[in-house]
Amino acid sequence: MSKSKLKIIPLGGLSEIGKNMIVMEYEDDIIVIDAGLMFPEQEMLGIDLVIPDISYLMERREKIRGIVITHGHEDHIGALPYLLPQLKAPVYSAKLTQGLIRVKLKERKALSEANLKVVSTGERIPLGKFEVETFPVCHSIPDSVGLIIHTPVGTVVHSGDFKLDYTPVSGKPTDLSRLAQLGVQGVLLLLSDSTYAELPGYTPSEKVVGETLDHIMADASGRVIVTTFSSLISRIQQVIDAAAKYQRRVFIVGRSMTDTTRMALDLGYLNAPDGILGRIDEARGMPHNKIVFITTGSQGEPTSALVRMANRDHPQVHIQHGDTIVISATPIPGNEGLVNRTIDNLFKQGARVLYDKVAKVHVHGHGSQEELKLLLSLVKPRYFMPIHGEYRHLSLHAGLAESVGIPKDNIFVLEDGDIFELSSQTAKLAGKVGSGNVYVDGLSVGDVGGIVLRNRKMLSKDGIVVAIIAVNRQTGQLVGRPDIVTRGFVNTREFRKMIDESRDLLARTINHSGVRAVEWSFVNNKVRDTLEKFYYEQTKRRPMILPFMVKV
Ligand SMILES: [Zn+2]
Ligand SMILES: [Zn+2]
Repeated sequence: MSKSKLKIIPLGGLSEIGKNMIVMEYEDDIIVIDAGLMFPEQEMLGIDLVIPDISYLMERREKIRGIVITHGHEDHIGALPYLLPQLKAPVYSAKLTQGLIRVKLKERKALSEANLKVVSTGERIPLGKFEVETFPVCHSIPDSVGLIIHTPVGTVVHSGDFKLDYTPVSGKPTDLSRLAQLGVQGVLLLLSDSTYAELPGYTPSEKVVGETLDHIMADASGRVIVTTFSSLISRIQQVIDAAAKYQRRVFIVGRSMTDTTRMALDLGYLNAPDGILGRIDEARGMPHNKIVFITTGSQGEPTSALVRMANRDHPQVHIQHGDTIVISATPIPGNEGLVNRTIDNLFKQGARVLYDKVAKVHVHGHGSQEELKLLLSLVKPRYFMPIHGEYRHLSLHAGLAESVGIPKDNIFVLEDGDIFELSSQTAKLAGKVGSGNVYVDGLSVGDVGGIVLRNRKMLSKDGIVVAIIAVNRQTGQLVGRPDIVTRGFVNTREFRKMIDESRDLLARTINHSGVRAVEWSFVNNKVRDTLEKFYYEQTKRRPMILPFMVKV
């Protein structure tokens, strides 16, 4: 038996939903599981995406043998376009997952240098001292896999995202017999998906959604507009099937939806009867009860096709009475506000809107409590570590593990950055590595940090005040009264008197400060302090104050 320890280090996805990434390290070998992104929370103003901090990996880049991806959802592949150019490691995934990764990498012009490898289930890939094998799991995207990682200290099973749907639309059901076999042979550690650990019972089958869509296509008197995630290929398939049954044609709207469907058709993960898919201009003049649109926007993303339709801003599709809109997704936590506003706007335009609270138009792709317990019981791991979820999900999942007989001391609830160290007989937490959020804002990655976010918060709360101070180039004396320009601070008409007073106050302060106003840093601080104090006394607000000197 080996003396070295196996280290498991989550860099993302624990105590949060999204940006999943787990590092496994043994001696000189590292493998990385998933590289996801997270959508920003409301207070992360102006941030487009959040990806994991990989400084730990950058310091050990030569050890990385590969990045293994469980499936093609954003929270598992979304960080690749940003991280792959830095990590330069080969990426292993199933075929459809690779197709989706290609689409992502191409968008960010990071495809040409990428080394992408397709893995079939059951195949064993040697990655340094690790050997990785994939097994099919059922999830809301085809080609989802879990991982069996053979290590020198024992076998580790990673569930990926999974549920136990015995009648999936596309993709295979979770391979329970392989898991049971492993359970008999002995599993050192199980890492398992906790996303829906709050829900009792079983997650309903995708079939339920198929039946609902069937009714909708049959009953709707006008157009049907279905919105979902572009990666939810099984859902797109269900829409095409239901449309075909009622002789409706299907039009794909929006670039990412078009790209993904085309790729899935090419790779054979999506089947459409001849002639059913059409170009959007062909819909013009067709009877409304023969039309189905599929589009993105289920998360209320401001630039998505659905949101533009909801705001009468879409060039081709105008919502009208008689339209049925199906939102076939649940809002990701944090997006509820945007989604609800979109639904309101669609109702205002006279559409009928069906969403998860009012119709069975979506089932999620993660196992509920009974499914999580079944997996634990089959795999029978010595140690258990819940993954993918907020802290409460992980804690609840830990409780489920205890309930099926895993000793409390063998269950480890980690947070991002924790080092979990295992030998074949022992497991313990052994310190922490640097981890956290890297913000992606437009074209820039990582240069928006805490300070920029804090400033944005300040601006969004109390606005901005610019104080323009003109001084004589030669004498350094103040020329005229300082000017004050404000945005988002107060209604300047109502507060004209206060602004006026602050201008006088500034003039007095600068003239009395006893130094030549050319000593800019001094004046700068003086102006800021004076105005901050004065405005706070008057309004109890703290706008951001920017002094600005002009030499005349
Ligand atoms: Zn997923
Ligand atoms: Zn996920």
